[in-house]
Amino acid sequence: MKIGVLALQGAVSEHCKVLNKLGHEAINIVSQHDLFGIDGLIIPGGESSTIGNLLVRYCLLNPIIELGQNGLPIFGTCAGLILLSKYIEKSNQHRLGLMDTHVIRNAFGRQFSCFEVNMPIPILGSIPYNTVFIRAPYIDKVHEGVSVLLSYENKVIFAEQNNFLVTAFHPELTDDMRIHEYFIQKVVSR
Ligand code: GLN
Repeated sequence: MKIGVLALQGAVSEHCKVLNKLGHEAINIVSQHDLFGIDGLIIPGGESSTIGNLLVRYCLLNPIIELGQNGLPIFGTCAGLILLSKYIEKSNQHRLGLMDTHVIRNAFGRQFSCFEVNMPIPILGSIPYNTVFIRAPYIDKVHEGVSVLLSYENKVIFAEQNNFLVTAFHPELTDDMRIHEYFIQKVVSR
């Protein structure tokens, strides 16, 4: 499969490495032209307001919204989760707004800004998954059509809606490739 990774800012190369390990081609997306022919797209972590501004500056915001509305599988991690959300607490930053979710940025407090938790994720089986959080957001409200795949302390941190998948944590920073594999399954079954 040919998977685009939005490469304007943030944890880009880590996603590309996982995709390559799984035997897929990773395409860095920096212009509208790069979107041609991709089977799926990853929006990485970083600073969501900066990535939003760059999406506008590089004329990528509307083309990606359109591809998402037409069914392109899109996987957002951390800042990517924020950018995919329709509602962002106290912010009017640019966004893709493709998921019916309401998110809170930097939501785990200063003391817990970076941390890891090992926990099982039901859709991935019983082997625990190491979730890595870096100034992470969480989803505090999901609207109809959104499936919650994992919560931590009553905060939604992994969800999906049709062709969209989001995590508040960073699956690209662990050796466990199960979440990327899950996304690839969505791409293949499209
Ligand atoms: N705190 C960042 C934001 O609000 C997200 C952090 C991340 O992607 N690791 O955009």
